[in-house]
Amino acid sequence: VDEREFQILRALGVGVAVALAVLLQRLAPHAAAGGSTRVNVGLWAIDAAATGLVCGACACTVARWAADANLGLFNVVTLPVWMQVLLACLLLDAVSYAWHRANHVVPVLWRFHQVHHSDPTFTVSTALRFHPGELLLSLPLRLAAVAVIGAPVLGVVVFEIWFALANFFEHGDIALPVGLDRRLRRICVTPGLHRRHHGRHVTELRTNFGTIFTFWDRMLGTYGESGPSARVQTGLPGTGDVGTLRALAMPFGPPLRGR
Ligand SMILES: [Zn+2]
Ligand SMILES: [Zn+2]
Repeated sequence: VDEREFQILRALGVGVAVALAVLLQRLAPHAAAGGSTRVNVGLWAIDAAATGLVCGACACTVARWAADANLGLFNVVTLPVWMQVLLACLLLDAVSYAWHRANHVVPVLWRFHQVHHSDPTFTVSTALRFHPGELLLSLPLRLAAVAVIGAPVLGVVVFEIWFALANFFEHGDIALPVGLDRRLRRICVTPGLHRRHHGRHVTELRTNFGTIFTFWDRMLGTYGESGPSARVQTGLPGTGDVGTLRALAMPFGPPLRGR
């Protein structure tokens, strides 16, 4: 897989993920309220331009560089490829958990991450609502993780697609059947769990930092049970529906409550 193929595969993965999440949102809505689609898509367009400019497929480049240089865990320890891919997904998801948790602890990181939480609604488009600053700040950590793990390029591709599927799915205004939701959340983050993370109260906000797996929250004591029908008031106190430019300026204004 080269850089161009990497970007095509990732774009296809994102397309499929959006389509599936929107379909589920239609078929099994939780609150059936409108979303902040216009603002969120606006932020996503800016993010795509910023990350495309800085790092189109640099995770792929770093993975190949580490393999050539014999650097990183899986370039030293020999494991079957399928196991390398699975472990890379697990470890990169753990890094994402740690980064997300840091975003809620370190004031300067929260300034950027609050933009994600400032969405008063909770729908598939919330998955697009990130400040470009947050994405760019996370880049060195994510790239370092790829190198340290020695993740194969295939592992990085699978992780990015899996991550996109999880991201769009768990932000969906989706109410899964109770039994399915209960079984699924033993392993994976469900919309109910992540909806709780978007709650207005800090007790809700400080739970469920995971994106793909629930293991990290369970192991580190941040897991907060939340079923598909649990009602959550989402958003941050003091923010209403802001436009794209206001959302972009948010990290540089007075910090919001929450965190
Ligand atoms: Zn958060
Ligand atoms: Zn979220």
